Amino acid sequence: MSVREIVTVGHPVLRQRAREISREELATAEVQGLIDDMIDTMRAAGGAGLAANQVAELRRVAVIEVDNNPRYPYKPPIPLTVIVNPVLEPVGEETVAINEGCLSVPDLRGTLERFVTVRVRWLDREGNEHDELRCGLTAGTFQHEVDHLDGVLFLDRVADPTTFTTWE
Ligand code: ZN
Repeated sequence: MSVREIVTVGHPVLRQRAREISREELATAEVQGLIDDMIDTMRAAGGAGLAANQVAELRRVAVIEVDNNPRYPYKPPIPLTVIVNPVLEPVGEETVAINEGCLSVPDLRGTLERFVTVRVRWLDREGNEHDELRCGLTAGTFQHEVDHLDGVLFLDRVADPTTFTTWE
């Protein structure tokens, strides 16, 4: 396991759609190693999530974890979740304004609308199928990571540029 370099805004890989992977590919040492490295990289950077695009891999894999993270004291804990080939759809029309940042957009925050409730289907790293609902800030985190896999950054969804701030 090792910590990989996180690419930042401007790198073309952040604007490309990551491709689905087969169960056979998921089971390979290469992809299992990628998942281990992504977990290490997310934890080392103090992030709440990391998508494969952010370590310059165009495979449809992301990791999410919130564990009393000092960067995000307002976020409810999320156990370590590895999502492979996620498909996300909103449940209802309700949205909420969330102030987001991104490890690939250093030191910038912005406010955007996210769906309050989403249905997410994915494979875990063992290839088991999940079909679950996520709500609130946790739903926002899932939407942020699936956006990455589609080549979308939170910057694109900020309707009011005056909400951009630094962490300070
Ligand atoms: Zn991000």
